[in-house]
Amino acid sequence: MKAVVKHEAGPGAKLMDMPMPKAGPRDLLVRVKAAAICGTDNHIMEWNGYAQARVKPPMIFGHEFAGDVIEVGNQVTKFKVGDRVAADTHIPDGTCYQCNTGNQHICENMAILGVHCDGAFAEYLALPESCAWKIPSTRSYDEGAVMEPMGVAVHSVLMERIDGKSVAIFGCGPIGMFAVASAAACGASKIFAVEVSPDRLAMTAKYVPSAIMLNGREVNPVEEIRKQTNGLGADVCIEIAGVPITANQALQACRKNGRVSLTGLTGTTVTIDTVTDIIYKELRVYGTTGRHMWETWYTMESLLETGKVDPKPVITHRFPLADFEEALALAKGGKAGKVLLYP
Ligand SMILES: [Zn+2]
Ligand SMILES: [Zn+2]
Repeated sequence: MKAVVKHEAGPGAKLMDMPMPKAGPRDLLVRVKAAAICGTDNHIMEWNGYAQARVKPPMIFGHEFAGDVIEVGNQVTKFKVGDRVAADTHIPDGTCYQCNTGNQHICENMAILGVHCDGAFAEYLALPESCAWKIPSTRSYDEGAVMEPMGVAVHSVLMERIDGKSVAIFGCGPIGMFAVASAAACGASKIFAVEVSPDRLAMTAKYVPSAIMLNGREVNPVEEIRKQTNGLGADVCIEIAGVPITANQALQACRKNGRVSLTGLTGTTVTIDTVTDIIYKELRVYGTTGRHMWETWYTMESLLETGKVDPKPVITHRFPLADFEEALALAKGGKAGKVLLYP
């Protein structure tokens, strides 16, 4: 089969002929119909510190996808041949403290699909049954492929209730756009979307017209958010840009006794004035990662099923798998929404 392979420890990747993956007793063999590009894939492509610490070449990368089950292992109970699936990419061991206490998405021995084991930029992949999520026949593979990143947004936004609250979202890449749409769908009263890329601001404004767009290069988002919330600050701030400045802005733009979710990965240490920006304000600051399995997926399923969130406008570009280099470069540029690959 054809697959995009991190073939050696260094920058780049190759489209290669690889052997068909084998489904273990608890795995599904999935024919990949659509795969989406994530920031992580560009880390692997560039071979930065994140990738060097985790990836052992040769490895097929890519982790956001949807496809058809074409074979099931003999211990699989919940899926059958012909099912259409999306997947959570956090592979839990099912035995540790976190798994046993309802937090398998932060399993102590978690492996990540397409980072620690072969992933989805391929015609086929072996997927543990424990990570598979059945999608209805009404959902396109494109929509199924972006459920994983959409879930990151839903998990972050809904860490606490947001109905009737003002919500500021920092960063309007694809996950940020999903966060803005989810906040609107779940009853936020006022939504601020902070971003520096004019393309992404325009895309988000079109996607969720009720949101208030703030260009972080043109205005001071902290002052602007305060001004538009009676001087108090937003009830909820969500940081998805993964930039030290916006992490600080999220804390500063939040009202006293408000809630902040930090979701974007900065890749560097962030300096925070804990006294002024957290302690004296009695903020509740959450780290959020991945998706709660499976609560986030059930929530997402109802948002999609009822049409409260339409993921289609977030998908802006489509490429055949062979053009992965062009597709990955486009996904990194800050102009595109989600970029899809078709094996
Ligand atoms: Zn991802
Ligand atoms: Zn575990």
